[in-house]
Amino acid sequence: MTTTGPETRSHQRERKGRRVAVIGGGITGLSAAQRLISTDPMAEVVILESTERFGGIIRTEHGHGFLMELGPDSFITNKPGGIQLCEEVGLADELIPTDAEFRRSLVLRNGKPRLVPEGFMLMAPAKPWKIATTPVLSVAGKIRLLREAFIRPKTGEEEDESLAGFVRRRFGRQTLERLVQPLVGGIYTSDPEKLSLKATLPRFIDMEQQYGSVIRATLAEQRQKKGRGEADSGSGARYGLFAAPRNGLGSLVDGVLEWLRGSERVCFCSNTPVSGLTQTSAEDGTAAPSWAVSAPDVPDEIFDDVILTLSTHKAADLLNDESFSELAQSLREIEYASSAIVVTTHKLSDFRHSLDAFGLVVPAIENRRILAVSFTSRKFPGRAPAGHVLLRTFVGGAMQPELLEHSDAEITQFVHQELSAILGMNAAPSFSQVVRYQRAMPQYHVGHLARVAEIERLSDEHRGLHLAGSAYFGVGLPDSIASGWLAADRVLQGV
Ligand SMILES: Cc1cc2nc3c(=O)[nH]c(=O)nc-3n(C[C@H](O)[C@H](O)[C@H](O)COP(=O)(O)OP(=O)(O)OC[C@H]3O[C@@H](n4cnc5c(N)ncnc54)[C@H](O)[C@@H]3O)c2cc1C
Repeated sequence: MTTTGPETRSHQRERKGRRVAVIGGGITGLSAAQRLISTDPMAEVVILESTERFGGIIRTEHGHGFLMELGPDSFITNKPGGIQLCEEVGLADELIPTDAEFRRSLVLRNGKPRLVPEGFMLMAPAKPWKIATTPVLSVAGKIRLLREAFIRPKTGEEEDESLAGFVRRRFGRQTLERLVQPLVGGIYTSDPEKLSLKATLPRFIDMEQQYGSVIRATLAEQRQKKGRGEADSGSGARYGLFAAPRNGLGSLVDGVLEWLRGSERVCFCSNTPVSGLTQTSAEDGTAAPSWAVSAPDVPDEIFDDVILTLSTHKAADLLNDESFSELAQSLREIEYASSAIVVTTHKLSDFRHSLDAFGLVVPAIENRRILAVSFTSRKFPGRAPAGHVLLRTFVGGAMQPELLEHSDAEITQFVHQELSAILGMNAAPSFSQVVRYQRAMPQYHVGHLARVAEIERLSDEHRGLHLAGSAYFGVGLPDSIASGWLAADRVLQGV
């Protein structure tokens, strides 16, 4: 265990405010700690992190003039978490928007990169007339897509439906296979046949219910936006809504750490893999229960509250006491997908394709060995020297888990082959690195919200235990930050 901050042994210090263990030093845990310290003048926080570094999935590296994001590369700004955290730690001025020049995305069609129709956002065609000219769909596919405006809404909306079921029902099979599966499925690295629409994109259900059609709802929204003088957000994944700190997301982690280090009430314990949690109550039942947190080679520590930010399968492993058996079982029901990112650097002139977009998504029906390629240095300035490009190619996910059984060298090789075949790469990258994410992406399968409600019910039975992270109410950074804050608020409310 490596400890920095004030003395941590609870019995060696005079107790003042609530003592809180934050388990996991990713962005969720750091956000929870930041909220606790900023809102409770007495709280003491110990952050326990299994590895030697904080930040979890967020990892930014610099080298040879490139700024390389090895994990997430940006966050959406229509949810408050990311922006607000930057503001609170003094990084608001560092946030940069995506480069308007390349704000478009490509989709593979018969082995060739094609533009995603302008205005097509996830599954909402904001400019239906642009559908008429796209080479991505056949004439029959286009007619079927546009017929959506006249398809009756489903009744019995209480039932959860898969993303695939919804898109097939409203827009037809082609739109699902050639556009929505790669665009939406790619965000969650998921199988759209299993993905819960209610848990991932509930606004499309609202659109159907309120306007009778996604197309009609989108056009109405567009008219309202125009009325408010708001700009068009491009095609693909609403790229105009994304932002990142100028020096990469690692600077957000550094900013939060620096902010936390300014407080004497925070203790950082890296290299501390927590191995178990036990809830203890006073024998006469008068005092609030407390929590014993165990880690190898150090004595147990006692806390009033625990904020557990690990992926649900890891959280379940810590809850190995008999009293948690139902909760641990429910946590294990949330499945996770694994993926790898192959980060490569190149000269722009080494591609036949101009790479004049933010990236390329690859439909499953194209039968390739990659899910998507992000042209990262086209999204944000300062990621690559002039005349060069930084790519991040995604492999695996829920639909191609077998590809991750290959060695790093094999993955690198087939990614290079795909880049050559699809984008005309004609020289080896100057740098190549494989970063694996083992069971890192929670899968919001049909029934997810009911599963999470059950987890909440069961965890509420254990006062002082607070679950947070990307497994519950949103997979992105702003959702993770918000879930850390919510857990901290629950500590302060004493639930
Ligand atoms: C490949 C990939 C790309 C992504 N891209 C984006 C993106 O571009 N934009 C976006 O908004 N979101 C993105 N996300 C999602 C985003 O990364 C997550 O929402 C967020 O990072 C989750 O943070 P976390 O703190 O909950 O989890 P993590 O970052 O996983 O942190 C958990 C921490 O717990 C530690 N830990 C594990 N076990 C123990 C233990 N027993 N004891 C103590 N500590 C332990 C881990 O070492 C880790 O540091 C991406 C996710 C992945 C996997």
